[in-house]
Amino acid sequence: MTALTLNNVNKSFGNVHVLKDITLEVEEGEFVVFVGPSGCGKSTLLRVIAGLEDASSGDIHIGGQQVNLVPPSKRGIAMVFQSYALYPHLSVRGNMTLALKQEKQPKSMIEERVATASRMLNLEPYLDRYPSELSGGQRQRVAIGRAIVREPKLFLFDEPLSNLDAALRMNTRIEIANLHRALDASMIYVTHDQTEAMTLADKIVVLRDGRVEQIGSPMELYNNPANQFVAGFLGSPS
Ligand code: ADP
Ligand code: MG
Repeated sequence: MTALTLNNVNKSFGNVHVLKDITLEVEEGEFVVFVGPSGCGKSTLLRVIAGLEDASSGDIHIGGQQVNLVPPSKRGIAMVFQSYALYPHLSVRGNMTLALKQEKQPKSMIEERVATASRMLNLEPYLDRYPSELSGGQRQRVAIGRAIVREPKLFLFDEPLSNLDAALRMNTRIEIANLHRALDASMIYVTHDQTEAMTLADKIVVLRDGRVEQIGSPMELYNNPANQFVAGFLGSPS
């Protein structure tokens, strides 16, 4: 079964046509990277998949179910934002448990999931701290932990490393690859960084001006770019 299918998805804001006939599939367990220049529609596409924006037309299927009218909290997905979007008045534990508490999940289950996620992310010493007391890298791990405790089938990452310095970016990239292996979930990862795309992806979707330019494995895109744009972005210098 595919984790996600988009069929001819369009999104306009007023008369600004941002997403144009987006058709793609994410297989179960696949790590798919969306790449493209700033302003090409990557964040809008994630927000439409998450249900934070409605598609103007087209079909969205998650886990085989049409979800166009399903609210974000019922789509079985979790999103990690570039800005982290942590609640400043809540501790690390509070940030990680909020969604599960709102869903009225049993206390023992919530504690167990926080314990597991904080162990995976080395957040155990920080559970009672507040976001303002954490480094950028630690905040990013809390944002990832908040997604993990919900045990989503599909993770959406919107440029999660772009606010980190180069060394931390590399470490966190390796951690995300390890998490993908450990969690057995599908992941969509947005970046404008070609090294991140080439090293993390099973499959890359190249976007330009709201359209899909090419879809393929890193090697396929590198060796057989469909056009100059893809070549310039990912391919070998020719
Ligand atoms: P990216 O994430 O690739 O940088 P975005 O998805 O943020 O691109 O934006 C794509 C385009 O859609 C931009 O031109 C942006 O100005 C426009 N856009 C995004 N959100 C809105 C909105 N809520 N209202 C109007 N235009 C928007
Ligand atoms: Mg963006």
